[in-house]
Amino acid sequence: MQELKSVGQGGPRPLCALPSSCGLCPRACGANRAAGERGVCGADGRLLVARAALHFWEEPPISGEDGSGTIFFAGCPLGCVYCQNAEIALAEHAREITVERLAAIMKELEVAGALNINCVTPTHYAPQIRAAVAQARARGVALPVLWNTGGYETVEAVRANGGCVDAYLTDFKYADPSLARRYSHAADYPEAALEALEAMVEEAGPVRYDEYRGQERLVGGVVVRHLMLPGALENSKAVVRLLHGRFGDAIRLSLMNQYTPVLARAAEAGSTRAAAVLAVSPELAETVPDDEYEALLDFADELGVRDYFWQEGGAAEESFIPPFDFTGV
Ligand code: SF4
Repeated sequence: MQELKSVGQGGPRPLCALPSSCGLCPRACGANRAAGERGVCGADGRLLVARAALHFWEEPPISGEDGSGTIFFAGCPLGCVYCQNAEIALAEHAREITVERLAAIMKELEVAGALNINCVTPTHYAPQIRAAVAQARARGVALPVLWNTGGYETVEAVRANGGCVDAYLTDFKYADPSLARRYSHAADYPEAALEALEAMVEEAGPVRYDEYRGQERLVGGVVVRHLMLPGALENSKAVVRLLHGRFGDAIRLSLMNQYTPVLARAAEAGSTRAAAVLAVSPELAETVPDDEYEALLDFADELGVRDYFWQEGGAAEESFIPPFDFTGV
């Protein structure tokens, strides 16, 4: 376990404690977050949020018809070169809020009719989010709390979420370490994500639903998302094979084809960073071909994967990416 240090000294017990040598994600970059030092993920001592609103483009039992109460946190431990939310991934386009305000936002989302509290890219703010959930519960918020993560978590962090998180929406991006290194600078991703996923399944239990205002709603368990990348069918097949073999029906898979080539648009708009990425990985300028996605779905069917989520063709639209305009913050 990493050392934890209180934000405050003396007086009442602090609402949350940030690490003095951060190891909240597998990068374990050691940033002194308690002293305000910025980590590789872009997070420092502050709690940074870009949007909190109803969101309608998650899987059906997550968005329902009324919407998921989605809170987009800024910064990211993975920093994938093709990031679909690049605008906020560097934690530079964000607004600082307090833990108390975060708890109030959760209450406001419940009042607005949300099916759940959906914490997007939460890993690096886990202590603050857990403190906010505790406050929100004290205010009567009864919605399930979803941990919507890139999957690059530590086992210790997942264990620490026990009693706070009801269900995980976790990515499993890579089975291929070389692809993980190339796109996310994290060759340890397959191993780390698998260990974390085992802990999530133990903590969150089987996938469970209830009926909430006439809608089927996810209330527990683990949904594992895999975003197919252009030219990476073999990686996707390896992910499905690995997860189905290891977990079977203990998880629910979501196979996604909505990869949006935001890099190409950024490069056209003059981004030198995007142009540099595409010079090394030109395949990232394309969408996922329909026949590759169909091949992945056929592969899952042949393996005997049941009841997985999949997407209709033409899902690669920037309309799936919400405006990070501080709505609800
Ligand atoms: S969560 Fe951020 S600060 Fe903490 S170890 Fe990971 S990259 Fe570093």
